[in-house]
Amino acid sequence: MIKLDRPQKPAYLTHAKVTELTAKFKADGSSVWRKPEITDPLIKASHKKCAYCECKLQEKDSYMEVEHFRHKDKYNDDVVKWENLVPSCKRCNGKKGTHDVVIEPIVEPFNMDPSDHLYLQMVYFRDHDDVGKATIETLDLNNYKRMVLPRFYITGQIERNIFAIEQALEAYTNTPSVRRKNGLIRILTDTLLECQPNSEFAATAATFLHLNPSYATLCAAMKAGNLWDEELEKLHQLSEAIRLV
Ligand SMILES: [Zn+2]
Repeated sequence: MIKLDRPQKPAYLTHAKVTELTAKFKADGSSVWRKPEITDPLIKASHKKCAYCECKLQEKDSYMEVEHFRHKDKYNDDVVKWENLVPSCKRCNGKKGTHDVVIEPIVEPFNMDPSDHLYLQMVYFRDHDDVGKATIETLDLNNYKRMVLPRFYITGQIERNIFAIEQALEAYTNTPSVRRKNGLIRILTDTLLECQPNSEFAATAATFLHLNPSYATLCAAMKAGNLWDEELEKLHQLSEAIRLV
């Protein structure tokens, strides 16, 4: 889970439209929030990922659902309230169900920084406080098959990349050449691209990378060898900002 910025309320959601859609939902229970004027800005704001678990949306078997942070059965006046809508995968929406966030708050990534409440130990989410604990349990964020296994995969991939970068750096240091330098920077760039806000499971990837002592050593060596450029620095900083610590 990473911090997200909620976009401006769509012009479509005027006071009159919100009143009309809310009345319709109360009358017949229809999915009045399923409008591109509402769903398009939500999915864009979450980088086409579930705002909770960071799986990619709009791909096979994972279409976006609009999750009502204050659940719509009890808080039916908020059914199209912009600040109450969160882009989510079917799994997270289903897990959260009718959990009452007013009584037991969980992390709402548009309003709260997940790293204030959650951190990563190995590939398991752990909590800093009651909000973090309620978030993990409500969304079942440590479900082994659906959540933990993909984190094992992505962190394994990053570990392999770090090893490849170390080898490429050693080869370049022993026998410098433009081709070796470009190859080295390419692997590091690709690795950092896996840790950006728009990458699947980015919080896990970014945390694993930045807590890895080998990565810190590599960064220092590349800076000392004038192999660090503006693009790498930008990707490095963006990934550092979303880690869970
Ligand atoms: Zn999800």
